[in-house]
Amino acid sequence: MVALNPFPRRSYTDGPTPLEHLPRLSAELGGPQIWIKRDDRLGLAQGGNKTRKLEFLVADALSKGADALITVGGVQSNHCRLTLAAARAEGLDCHLIVEEDLGPEGVGLGPAGANPPEFTGNFLLFDLLGADSVRVLGNGSDLLGEAEALAESLRAQGKSPYVIPVGGSNPIGALGYVDCAHEMLTQFAEAVLQPTNIVTPSGSAGMQAGLIVGLHAAGSDIPVVGINVSRSRVDQEPKISDLVDSTAHLLDLTPVPRERTVALGDYVGTGYALPTPGMTEAVRLIARTEGILLDPVYTGKAAAGLIDLVRQGRFGTDDTVVFIHSGGVPGLYARTQAFA
Ligand SMILES: *Cc1c(COP(=O)(O)O)cnc(C)c1O
Repeated sequence: MVALNPFPRRSYTDGPTPLEHLPRLSAELGGPQIWIKRDDRLGLAQGGNKTRKLEFLVADALSKGADALITVGGVQSNHCRLTLAAARAEGLDCHLIVEEDLGPEGVGLGPAGANPPEFTGNFLLFDLLGADSVRVLGNGSDLLGEAEALAESLRAQGKSPYVIPVGGSNPIGALGYVDCAHEMLTQFAEAVLQPTNIVTPSGSAGMQAGLIVGLHAAGSDIPVVGINVSRSRVDQEPKISDLVDSTAHLLDLTPVPRERTVALGDYVGTGYALPTPGMTEAVRLIARTEGILLDPVYTGKAAAGLIDLVRQGRFGTDDTVVFIHSGGVPGLYARTQAFA
């Protein structure tokens, strides 16, 4: 394992998140034994994977004297919700710049107002948690460019803003999942469990990159299978492996073999956040069999991938698969039509 203590860190969760066996889902699918890592139960308002990244990102911001956080995402961004919750907990200002969703067919980079957000789910929580500003731009806008421009104007007013990229996915944010990999390896040892695969949603790539680096650092060869939520395999894998390389570099590790990065693009459907039949089936199945809620944008599509890979025989009865539940459940209430 690699020491993370040289990096400043805040603590937003008490202890490790649970690692649970899913016996009814495993029996229903008739394939591998499936376990779930409950990162939906991380701290900050309603938890989810961004909490782990923010422990390092917000600590970095504080160590640099920041008094405001700026970040970007979709209108239902879990990352924006959790960045705002962390800002509230730390007494920092927080500004959000978000882009509207794609239209129903996944096409068109609409102008602002083409697909206005509903006042529900995470978008509701931006208001309740008292964001200092929320700007809604058209789909496809240059969010990070706008964030840098806002940072510049805040600096001109004497503030010290800190810009966090989409999904908190840079080497500092990925440290949260290097740590999660170590946390899981300890849990596997305690449970005398030998997972043959870890299956995770893959979006802005910080979670999967961090997991790969953390396993590599610990000398574990458990493969991490990413299920993409927004990109094809050829577009996603270089994003992940670039972040794997820069995170490994930050930690002074030996290079990570490129083959460790696997991210399947078969379960995206027509685009980011747009529902698929596999997603609705997976959300309903895991709710009914295990009483666990997934979300429609990330974990629902990743679980659809897991289920399909079991049905294809890619994971057999001798396998033990750990599925990462990365949170996102508040977004369920913003996408009820997918289930109607
Ligand atoms: C952001 C997010 C992901 C994807 O994680 P990345 O690090 O962006 O790849 C998965 N699940 C949920 C609920 C998220 O909010």
